[in-house]
Amino acid sequence: MRVGRPVKALPQPICNYCGAKAVLVRADEDAYPYREDHGPLWICAPCEAWIGIFARSTRHLPLGRLANAELREWKARLHAALEPMVEAKVRRDGCNTFEARSKGYKWLADKLEIDEKKCHIHLLDVDQCKAAIEIIESFERERRSGEPR
Ligand SMILES: [Zn+2]
Repeated sequence: MRVGRPVKALPQPICNYCGAKAVLVRADEDAYPYREDHGPLWICAPCEAWIGIFARSTRHLPLGRLANAELREWKARLHAALEPMVEAKVRRDGCNTFEARSKGYKWLADKLEIDEKKCHIHLLDVDQCKAAIEIIESFERERRSGEPR
Protein backbone atom coordinates (compact mmCIF):
# COMPACT_ATOMS: atom_id res chain seq x y z
CA MET A 1 0.00 0.00 0.00
CA ARG A 2 1.32 3.39 -0.88
CA VAL A 3 1.04 6.06 1.65
CA GLY A 4 0.83 9.63 0.45
CA ARG A 5 3.28 12.09 1.83
CA PRO A 6 1.84 13.71 4.93
CA VAL A 7 0.75 17.26 4.32
CA LYS A 8 2.79 19.61 6.45
CA ALA A 9 0.62 21.64 8.77
CA LEU A 10 0.60 25.35 8.18
CA PRO A 11 2.48 27.28 10.83
CA GLN A 12 0.46 29.09 13.45
CA PRO A 13 2.71 31.68 15.05
CA ILE A 14 1.81 32.73 18.56
CA CYS A 15 2.19 36.31 19.74
CA ASN A 16 5.32 36.57 21.88
CA TYR A 17 3.64 39.15 24.11
CA CYS A 18 0.10 37.93 24.85
CA GLY A 19 0.16 34.33 23.62
CA ALA A 20 -2.71 34.87 21.17
CA LYS A 21 -2.68 33.28 17.74
CA ALA A 22 -1.25 35.62 15.14
CA VAL A 23 -3.32 36.33 12.02
CA LEU A 24 -1.95 36.47 8.48
CA VAL A 25 -2.70 39.79 6.79
CA ARG A 26 -1.95 41.03 3.31
CA ALA A 27 -1.28 44.51 2.04
CA ASP A 28 -4.83 45.09 0.79
CA GLU A 29 -6.44 44.28 4.16
CA ASP A 30 -7.50 46.80 6.81
CA ALA A 31 -5.34 45.35 9.58
CA TYR A 32 -2.18 45.74 7.49
CA PRO A 33 0.14 48.11 9.39
CA TYR A 34 2.13 49.60 6.50
CA ARG A 35 1.02 51.84 3.68
CA GLU A 36 3.36 50.08 1.28
CA ASP A 37 3.31 46.38 0.52
CA HIS A 38 5.98 44.57 2.56
CA GLY A 39 4.49 41.19 1.78
CA PRO A 40 2.15 39.18 4.01
CA LEU A 41 2.63 39.58 7.76
CA TRP A 42 1.70 37.55 10.81
CA ILE A 43 0.17 40.09 13.15
CA CYS A 44 -1.23 40.43 16.66
CA ALA A 45 -3.33 43.59 16.42
CA PRO A 46 -3.79 44.24 20.20
CA CYS A 47 -0.02 44.13 20.76
CA GLU A 48 0.79 45.93 17.48
CA ALA A 49 3.31 43.16 16.94
CA TRP A 50 4.12 41.50 13.63
CA ILE A 51 6.64 39.56 11.59
CA GLY A 52 7.08 38.98 7.86
CA ILE A 53 7.29 35.66 6.09
CA PHE A 54 10.10 34.05 4.13
CA ALA A 55 10.00 35.24 0.54
CA ARG A 56 8.31 32.70 -1.71
CA SER A 57 7.27 30.60 1.29
CA THR A 58 4.09 28.84 0.20
CA ARG A 59 3.41 27.93 3.83
CA HIS A 60 3.74 31.53 5.03
CA LEU A 61 6.58 30.54 7.29
CA PRO A 62 7.32 33.44 9.67
CA LEU A 63 10.82 34.93 9.60
CA GLY A 64 11.02 34.77 13.37
CA ARG A 65 9.23 35.95 16.47
CA LEU A 66 6.55 38.64 16.41
CA ALA A 67 8.05 42.05 17.15
CA ASN A 68 6.29 44.97 18.80
CA ALA A 69 7.21 48.64 18.30
CA GLU A 70 10.05 48.52 20.85
CA LEU A 71 11.62 45.40 19.37
CA ARG A 72 11.22 46.70 15.81
CA GLU A 73 13.14 49.81 16.86
CA TRP A 74 15.97 47.74 18.35
CA LYS A 75 16.06 45.46 15.33
CA ALA A 76 16.46 48.54 13.12
CA ARG A 77 19.32 49.77 15.32
CA LEU A 78 21.02 46.39 15.25
CA HIS A 79 20.65 46.29 11.48
CA ALA A 80 22.17 49.77 11.21
CA ALA A 81 25.09 48.72 13.42
CA LEU A 82 25.76 45.44 11.65
CA GLU A 83 25.43 46.40 8.00
CA PRO A 84 28.53 48.65 7.83
CA MET A 85 30.54 45.70 9.21
CA VAL A 86 29.02 43.44 6.57
CA GLU A 87 29.84 45.93 3.81
CA ALA A 88 33.38 46.33 5.12
CA LYS A 89 33.86 42.58 5.09
CA VAL A 90 32.57 42.35 1.52
CA ARG A 91 35.11 44.99 0.44
CA ARG A 92 37.95 43.45 2.45
CA ASP A 93 37.42 39.75 1.73
CA GLY A 94 35.63 39.95 -1.59
CA CYS A 95 32.85 37.65 -0.37
CA ASN A 96 29.17 38.27 -1.08
CA THR A 97 26.80 40.11 1.25
CA PHE A 98 24.92 36.98 2.25
CA GLU A 99 28.13 35.22 3.27
CA ALA A 100 29.48 38.25 5.11
CA ARG A 101 26.22 38.71 7.01
CA SER A 102 26.02 35.06 7.99
CA LYS A 103 29.61 35.24 9.31
CA GLY A 104 28.65 38.37 11.21
CA TYR A 105 25.80 36.56 12.94
CA LYS A 106 28.04 33.60 13.66
CA TRP A 107 30.49 35.97 15.35
CA LEU A 108 27.65 37.58 17.30
CA ALA A 109 26.26 34.20 18.38
CA ASP A 110 29.65 33.35 19.80
CA LYS A 111 29.90 36.67 21.65
CA LEU A 112 26.31 36.47 22.92
CA GLU A 113 26.88 32.83 23.88
CA ILE A 114 23.75 31.69 22.11
CA ASP A 115 23.10 28.97 19.57
CA GLU A 116 24.14 30.03 16.08
CA LYS A 117 20.72 28.98 14.77
CA LYS A 118 19.03 31.35 17.22
CA CYS A 119 21.23 34.28 16.29
CA HIS A 120 19.30 36.06 13.61
CA ILE A 121 17.81 39.54 13.66
CA HIS A 122 14.25 38.20 13.55
CA LEU A 123 14.80 35.80 16.44
CA LEU A 124 16.51 38.06 18.95
CA ASP A 125 14.64 39.83 21.75
CA VAL A 126 15.21 43.40 22.94
CA ASP A 127 17.92 42.51 25.46
CA GLN A 128 19.80 40.42 22.91
CA CYS A 129 19.58 43.22 20.33
CA LYS A 130 20.97 45.68 22.88
CA ALA A 131 23.78 43.29 23.81
CA ALA A 132 24.59 42.68 20.14
CA ILE A 133 24.76 46.41 19.40
CA GLU A 134 27.07 46.91 22.37
CA ILE A 135 29.35 44.12 21.11
CA ILE A 136 29.51 45.64 17.62
CA GLU A 137 30.11 49.17 18.93
CA SER A 138 32.90 48.16 21.28
CA PHE A 139 34.49 46.09 18.51
CA GLU A 140 34.37 49.11 16.19
CA ARG A 141 35.84 51.37 18.89
CA GLU A 142 38.73 48.97 19.44
CA ARG A 143 39.32 48.60 15.72
CA ARG A 144 39.39 52.36 15.21
CA SER A 145 41.72 52.96 18.14
CA GLY A 146 44.12 50.41 16.64
CA GLU A 147 44.30 52.24 13.33
CA PRO A 148 47.41 54.24 12.53
CA ARG A 149 46.79 57.97 12.63
ZN1 LIG B 1 -0.29 39.87 21.28
